[in-house]
Amino acid sequence: MSNRRKDHLGASSSEPLPVIIIGNGPSGICLSYLLSGYTPYVRPDAVHPHPLLQRKLSEAPGVSIMDQDLDYLSEGLEGRCQSPVALLFDTLLRPDTDFGGSVESILTWRQQKERAIPHLVLGRNPPGGAWHSIEGSMVTLSQGEWMGLPDLQVKDWMCKKRRGLRNSRATAGDIAHYYRDYVIRKGLSHNFVSSATVTAVEWGTPEPSSPGARDPSPLFQVSGFVAAEDQSQQPFSLRTRNVVLATGTSDSPARLGVPGEGLPFVHHDLSALEAATRAGTVSPSSDPVLIIGAGLSAADAVLYARHYGVPVIHAFRRPVDDPGLVFNQLPKMLYPEYHKVHQMMRERSILSPSPYEGYRSLPEHQLLLLKEDRQAVFRDPQGLQKVFGVALVLLLIGSHPDLSFLPGAGADLAVDPDQPLSAKRNPVDVDPFTYQSIHQEGLYAMGPLAGDNFVRFVQGGALAVASSLLRKEARKPP
Ligand SMILES: Cc1cc2nc3c(=O)[nH]c(=O)nc-3n(C[C@H](O)[C@H](O)[C@H](O)COP(=O)(O)OP(=O)(O)OC[C@H]3O[C@@H](n4cnc5c(N)ncnc54)[C@H](O)[C@@H]3O)c2cc1C
Repeated sequence: MSNRRKDHLGASSSEPLPVIIIGNGPSGICLSYLLSGYTPYVRPDAVHPHPLLQRKLSEAPGVSIMDQDLDYLSEGLEGRCQSPVALLFDTLLRPDTDFGGSVESILTWRQQKERAIPHLVLGRNPPGGAWHSIEGSMVTLSQGEWMGLPDLQVKDWMCKKRRGLRNSRATAGDIAHYYRDYVIRKGLSHNFVSSATVTAVEWGTPEPSSPGARDPSPLFQVSGFVAAEDQSQQPFSLRTRNVVLATGTSDSPARLGVPGEGLPFVHHDLSALEAATRAGTVSPSSDPVLIIGAGLSAADAVLYARHYGVPVIHAFRRPVDDPGLVFNQLPKMLYPEYHKVHQMMRERSILSPSPYEGYRSLPEHQLLLLKEDRQAVFRDPQGLQKVFGVALVLLLIGSHPDLSFLPGAGADLAVDPDQPLSAKRNPVDVDPFTYQSIHQEGLYAMGPLAGDNFVRFVQGGALAVASSLLRKEARKPP
């Protein structure tokens, strides 16, 4: 950690920081870029292919997008995301990408230091967030270009690194590297503290604003620790006027709740399979790896195990032809590897006459119990019990946001506070044009936490938060 960053954490300054961002994935990085004074303007010669948007943009020539009315600009835009500001920023950055076009971004970026807002980005991993936990050889679901952040195209970065896209997609390893490099290239490193885990965020009720009061907004106390290389932990506690939750949803894997789920050979992420393959505890001659789940993470695990010749039992609750399975939503031409897994799930089912050597699928099977002697007990669709000996179990059935560092684990912040927080079904309830919590002034949420699930779309959240924070700063009395 640089001394400058140590200073930030150790500082006992009486002035609170304007902003702390928790989470250093693409959301946190993009927001840090915008808060560092990088300001988007429409290029004077650019014409957006969307006529209505072009007309609106031409009404305010020379005015930064961050200073314009995001509600007005985004009105009427449609696309693959619910958030109007996410659609707006995406269409400014990639004007016709959904129509297969490659019109360049109509934005130009100017760094205006006087607009910068001091902030810190705290994250457990190196900058890049979840991308440092995804197996490096996995290929992104999205096109490589859609993984990029403002003003540094993935293809240009790849070219400089002498790397290439695969069938227009990138590897997770390259993308993790790109994000880390982005922070360095854009001069954002001094804002980032890696290996930092936030364990508590607390706030008080704002003082009733009295005449002459400087700032009626609440003060947040953000506490946690920074892990050193020798595993020692250095605690920190910081005060700030605004907190941005950008913690993603990958840290708390969903659990099945079956007996034996806590046994040492049972894991909830793919990295356990990589470690076991490296250590030789699973191999072509070992008992099979049991992979539970019918989503893309489970499919990635199947592909990984197959690559190393490790035998696989693949179990899932749904019928293999269930239209809700994710495979049915992916075009075959673009995702041949996932369609291969789907085909194997169908053709190599235990219910079909000739199970394929080294892979067997168990559709509509419910895992009942895992035993210490590495036996997995299932109930089949007919209600009969089946037992399999396995070397390792991977339960890859999704993940939940983990806001355990907030009062009440953030449950009150969800759209439906009576239901568990969920990126897809019950995200944090935010204003669509500022991403500030509807329930707590000064608290923002972005990325999957706010329902924006793809890197392409988390960037609109950053634009909304940055523009809201800039307005707040402008309102502050000198
Ligand atoms: C296997 C997989 C494949 C994916 N493929 C694609 C794809 O192809 N295209 C695409 O667009 N999206 C893809 N995604 C989704 C993508 O990862 C997310 O949209 C994106 O990373 C969200 O960015 P984020 O910055 O909001 O959160 P994240 O990238 O999740 O980063 C948040 C970071 O915050 C850290 N954090 C959490 N809590 C704390 C705490 N208390 N203290 C400190 N740090 C904390 C987390 O450890 C994490 O490192 C994929 C996700 C997974 C899991």
